[in-house]
Amino acid sequence: MERKCVAMISGGLDSALAARLMLEQDIAVAGLYLSMSWGCCEKEKAQACAQELGIPLMVLNVGDAYLDVIRSPKYGYGSGMNPCVDCRIYMFRIAKSYMESISAGFVVTGEVLGQRPMSQRRRPLDIIEAESGLEGLLLRPLSAQLLEPTLPELLGVVSRERLLTFSGRSRHEQLAMASSFGIRNHSTPAGGCLLTDESFAQKTRDLFAHEQRPTTKDMELLTLGRHFRTSLRTKIILGRNALENLMLEGHSDSGYLCLRPVFAGPSALIIGVCDEETLGLTLRLIWRYTKEEKRPQESPLQFWKDGLPWMASIPEEPLEMPSLQEAKSITQ
Ligand code: SF4
Repeated sequence: MERKCVAMISGGLDSALAARLMLEQDIAVAGLYLSMSWGCCEKEKAQACAQELGIPLMVLNVGDAYLDVIRSPKYGYGSGMNPCVDCRIYMFRIAKSYMESISAGFVVTGEVLGQRPMSQRRRPLDIIEAESGLEGLLLRPLSAQLLEPTLPELLGVVSRERLLTFSGRSRHEQLAMASSFGIRNHSTPAGGCLLTDESFAQKTRDLFAHEQRPTTKDMELLTLGRHFRTSLRTKIILGRNALENLMLEGHSDSGYLCLRPVFAGPSALIIGVCDEETLGLTLRLIWRYTKEEKRPQESPLQFWKDGLPWMASIPEEPLEMPSLQEAKSITQ
């Protein structure tokens, strides 16, 4: 077996330590970061970690196929819409392909036994290893001495004695070790996966309940603005600040119509069917979220509609409607 491994780098401390433990044993390490374009972990942190460790980092996008994992995970969800076991299986399959493509011998992760209730208990760790096709080739250096020896340990490529016995949720040992190694570039444990965030999870549930084939673009849009489901086939997103207004405009495309007021109000992105009734609702929502002192006093109101001038009368009343984030249950 080659003295070379692929290390999953998330930007967090544990994955950095796991990779460092391999370097300590003179094993070549190729970092791999799997990016979700809607935000998970932190790509910049992962890049900084890799730089600090002095290892190359391959950044790959999880792609639209990952959305099927979120839609129907075989092993269910965690606290939000996070399908952690299936997610890891999916990611480690990619890691396996990458490992084979660069002729590395095994894959290393920063998983710690018992640290996360859903994916880091012994049984899920075994399932992840088996279903990703990495049986015997998935090394978790931080907890390795508490787990079955892997092939690189059995073959003497990795010294098991120099691996660790970390377990549980406490991070004291990891922090002490980071300090002794001089590892500073890592994200805080509080940061992380948006799928675990309840507000994001609500919007994700709504997306999957209404879209047959959602895309990563639809997922990216869940990170922006206030979301209003106005009908089975239409959703409206309003920007909450100047930056989001600009970003929504950047997402204007076929099937995604942007309405931007010329006055100081929020831009709206209409997704799905955009008929006269939808335009009327959008107008009333924009009016609702325009500060009273900024509302023009006279009709017609001026807008840019997909880059072209568009005018409308002042709506009779603003639309008071809970956003998806505010609604208690949006799938009922
Ligand atoms: S927290 Fe998010 S990124 Fe991490 S395993 Fe779970 S679903 Fe995947």
